[in-house]
Amino acid sequence: ASGVVVYCRAGFESEAAQELDAVAAQAGVIGFARTERNSGFAEFVLAQQGAPDALQRLLGWSRLSFARQSLAVIGQFKGLPREDRLTPLLATLPAGFRVGDVWVETPDSDASKPLSAFCRSFNNAFVQALKRDGAMDPGSPWRLHALFPSGERCLLGLALIDHAAPWHQGIPRLKFPREAPSRSTLKLDEAFQVLLSKSERERWFKPGMSAVDLGAAPGGWTWQLVRRGLHVTAVDNGPMEEHLMASGLVVHKREDGFRYQPRQRVEWMVCDMVEQPRRVAERMAEWLAMGWCKRCVFNLKLPMKKRYAEVQQAFAQMQDSAAAQGREIEIRAKQLYHDREEITVFAQER
Ligand code: SAM
Repeated sequence: ASGVVVYCRAGFESEAAQELDAVAAQAGVIGFARTERNSGFAEFVLAQQGAPDALQRLLGWSRLSFARQSLAVIGQFKGLPREDRLTPLLATLPAGFRVGDVWVETPDSDASKPLSAFCRSFNNAFVQALKRDGAMDPGSPWRLHALFPSGERCLLGLALIDHAAPWHQGIPRLKFPREAPSRSTLKLDEAFQVLLSKSERERWFKPGMSAVDLGAAPGGWTWQLVRRGLHVTAVDNGPMEEHLMASGLVVHKREDGFRYQPRQRVEWMVCDMVEQPRRVAERMAEWLAMGWCKRCVFNLKLPMKKRYAEVQQAFAQMQDSAAAQGREIEIRAKQLYHDREEITVFAQER
């Protein structure tokens, strides 16, 4: 592979590129990141060809906060002929090439939106051609991705199915539940899908467990916890939605979320208060250090220019305050599809 391509929210290309540079440097992968503003993707170009599986391990989707998907790039095409785009793509696949699946996608950008119908029909044609060549193998751990930023340009990439985002364009299509009190409910639902494994979701949400929601009103996040059978203490000076309160699983406390302390250790704390990232991070670290919660999910709002640096500082501060007590925090973070100028973070003590 010649590099890695990651998908991201349009407008966050520079964060995605900075992160690729930083994570690659840490992993000893030599190359450079490049991107175009509002393209919806960023690339890391390797100094020397690399093995796709090593790249999926080192620069994979789950290690990157600003990436919705991460692929090992095996081909780049410009000026593809409209009448036959398939032949040049097929010609670059090595002999004996096998994949379990093929996804034809566009970046999530305004410029690429008109291509979605093309993607669907081209996807069918691609699958048929690979079947004809005996290259489709349900047992293969690889999925082939063809990313079309425009009708003439394509990046061919490989993803390890078990390590990559399992959604087209890296976007989980979640339906807004009509009974939920606010649209931000989708954010927490997406966070649980993206940041936790299936087995973690099964073990960590059991009816009867308890949770605290800081900055809970009107209750979109609380609703997600209640839906999973948890008892929730909702902390907010604002009003909670009535139907949600009628569930009987919610206690509303009109208190300051930065001061509130639970009487007993809870399974989960979630926090969606609009505050400076460093202030939120500090409070989250305190909750973990004091053992008030086992694990938490919180948002870091990023209205500032230097978003990547701000996030790194917030995380460093959490690790520093844990380290001062001889502890370590596991942090997983993602700029989710339902996040705008923010990222969502999962943290627990290691
Ligand atoms: N997660 C909620 C939902 O899904 O419906 C939306 C939360 S909204 C983005 C932020 C909330 O934080 C507001 O309701 C606001 O009143 C609350 N808030 C801000 N600062 C707070 C504080 N210091 N203590 C308690 N609540 C606070």
